Amino acid sequence: MAKLSVTFLGTSSAAPTKARGLPSIALRREGELILMDCGEGVQRRVLSESIGLGKDTTILITHLHGDHVAGLLGLLQTMSLAQRRRPLTIVAPAKLLKWLEVTSELLNIGLTFPIEFTAVKPGVVLRSSSFRVRAARALHSVEAYSYLVEENPRPGVFYPEKAKSLGVPEGKFWSRLQRGRSVLVKGRKILPSEVTGPTRPGRKVGYSGDTRPSSGLSRLFKGCDLLIFDSTFSASDQLRAVERKHSTCVEAAELAKRAGVRRLVLTHFSARYTSTAGLVREAKKVFPNTVAASDGLTLEVDYPSE
Ligand SMILES: [Zn+2]
Ligand SMILES: [Zn+2]
Repeated sequence: MAKLSVTFLGTSSAAPTKARGLPSIALRREGELILMDCGEGVQRRVLSESIGLGKDTTILITHLHGDHVAGLLGLLQTMSLAQRRRPLTIVAPAKLLKWLEVTSELLNIGLTFPIEFTAVKPGVVLRSSSFRVRAARALHSVEAYSYLVEENPRPGVFYPEKAKSLGVPEGKFWSRLQRGRSVLVKGRKILPSEVTGPTRPGRKVGYSGDTRPSSGLSRLFKGCDLLIFDSTFSASDQLRAVERKHSTCVEAAELAKRAGVRRLVLTHFSARYTSTAGLVREAKKVFPNTVAASDGLTLEVDYPSE
């Protein structure tokens, strides 16, 4: 089973603190890397977490606030210094491209690789070898989006007895069928559907970016295996959350409950909270399977038990 992991590279909102850098999250599966937001300082975190950038890389940007994008330029510059040739996929609000074009020209950053840019809009924004990425509008002070990263469906359960009864010899024929490919046995074509159960959904990871909770986001994140949600404020700072178009830890938990997710991770904490323990405590009263993100935290995303 391919490992799917999420590493938090920065978990602060607006400005960094001693313990927390600006927002960025790395999602890794085999050779594929998805970076979600690119706060200032992301490069050093990428190094300290040994996240290779030569990989098949996609960058998803939720919105154009400095704390979520200021790290992008440095990252592109370093990739060019390393003579990257592979195209880099970026999905972001349309204006990001303009910012990149102007600044890379002014700063003389000669990119050594092409950027494949997609202006985000609601719906499916990307299909890759491992994932499908869907976006929905978030409710923030500027145009903002939330993302759902869905792993491609995996083949159904393999039934060895069925394969044996059809005369399929064990070994490479079995593994072919398990990977969803057909085989030819004594002139008869055996389809994977004859020896396996129905395909099973892949794992789903949701990332809210900066947002108020909304019914649209509950729908987007329905049944997520791991939901990473804006938790800038505690419940006692609810008014601030409304004013600044963020969520409280309790609102994040309520949404996780409504959406029926498996696990909730709070992130994007205001500098006013030195410790995030209180926020987790509040959220757990509503949604027990909650943890707080911290810089450098890696979580494995597993399949639901069958
Ligand atoms: Zn933010
Ligand atoms: Zn913002």
